[in-house]
Amino acid sequence: MPREIIERMAACDDCRTLAVDYGMNLIGSRRHGAKPRDWELPLTAAGIHLDDHLITVHSAWLPDRQPNCDVCKLWRESHTIGPIEEAEALHRAWHLCEPLREVCTPGNHELIHLM
Ligand SMILES: [Zn+2]
Ligand SMILES: [Zn+2]
Repeated sequence: MPREIIERMAACDDCRTLAVDYGMNLIGSRRHGAKPRDWELPLTAAGIHLDDHLITVHSAWLPDRQPNCDVCKLWRESHTIGPIEEAEALHRAWHLCEPLREVCTPGNHELIHLM
């Protein structure tokens, strides 16, 4: 079930490019001995591009507020009405990408096969 989002992304050319870029940077950052100065900027940039694409093109994919997340809980308590704010959309995109982050570990080639 959680992998479903990766399959959905694989069906969109932009998602595929952006997710692979993000995933490869993430894998690099998790390598033993990886230095933050080598991966921090490219990883942040790749994450921003992916989030941006998800929020603007696939806003229907963004999950609901997650029950076990304090950040989501705060938003639920503020009873926002109407369209969600960008900050919340970004946070939901972060939840959306959780399965992606799970498979992006050094030595795991699942992302490449899925994309
Ligand atoms: Zn896409
Ligand atoms: Zn949350």
